[in-house]
Amino acid sequence: MSARQNPKGKAAPSRKPAAKAKKAPARKPTPKGARGKRRGGPGPSDLLGLFVLLLTAGLAACAGKEVLSGGGGDGQTETQAPTGQMVIRFLDVGQGDAILVRSPEGKTMLYDGGRSAERMRAHLETYGVDRIDLMVASHADADHIAGLVPAVQRAGPTVFINNGIAGTTQTWDRLVTALEEAGTTFQKANKQVVNLGSVKVRVIAPPPGMGDDQNENSVGVRIEFGEFRALLTGDSEKRETEAWLEQGRPEIKGPFQLYKSIHHGAANGDHPAWLATVRPENVVIGVGENSYGHPTETALNLYRETGTRVYRTDRQGTVTFTANADGTYTATTDR
Ligand SMILES: [Zn+2]
Repeated sequence: MSARQNPKGKAAPSRKPAAKAKKAPARKPTPKGARGKRRGGPGPSDLLGLFVLLLTAGLAACAGKEVLSGGGGDGQTETQAPTGQMVIRFLDVGQGDAILVRSPEGKTMLYDGGRSAERMRAHLETYGVDRIDLMVASHADADHIAGLVPAVQRAGPTVFINNGIAGTTQTWDRLVTALEEAGTTFQKANKQVVNLGSVKVRVIAPPPGMGDDQNENSVGVRIEFGEFRALLTGDSEKRETEAWLEQGRPEIKGPFQLYKSIHHGAANGDHPAWLATVRPENVVIGVGENSYGHPTETALNLYRETGTRVYRTDRQGTVTFTANADGTYTATTDR
């Protein structure tokens, strides 16, 4: 392929002139034994033995377990409320983030892919993902994009959005090549609003002036389904979130029923002023064995102090939220 990516990295890899190009025929999952071992840990008990937290307002009452408000003010629904359910899965990919969103209409977004191609392949197989409408790479670090490569190869995304700063690794190059081969349209994060059926994804571009540090140029997304809200902001560090606060961006205003812990619970991620705006009800930490001390006590204490319910993929495996348009939801974990 010719001008595939500006080596210096600015700007998303060149837009394909053939932007219209239909997605490459979604590669069929090579009937490999990928199904085999889902992951090293828990064994096949996961989907079955899953312990289910019913967070839906009504159900929570009967379940009597933890009292979880199912969030979402019912009050005024704008126009007609969508029907069906949106499913958001924080995939257990070890240390890293990978969030799979499916709208009631079957439209799909993959936000980051974790660092393991193998684990991502297994998840795609498990959840039958053969097509991705929107792929977002929060930034180009390996623990976020390595797993995107097999996702592109299997389910060639229609659109790929990133921060416009190319990675410097072979993994990045592989990703770009795969996207080109799939005929995916590249877009640099701006203020796109992408409709996945009745799910609205509002892209939160990095604020200006962040230099070219990958973390501080993380692309965020606000996900809206009826009155349900979720916020994902990659590995955005304090500098970036402070700049977003300063910009007074409407997309970061809570409350959010669901929120992704910044930077795997690093100490330079979530902070009080930020959480005071975001007001998350549930936080999921995408974390696995690591040498960084993630998640840090600092982050965990912060969540505790703000009364945010904490989920961790290292302890609970894949964490799934099933949301209704009235803002209620159910949370399910693999273990
Ligand atoms: Zn990361």
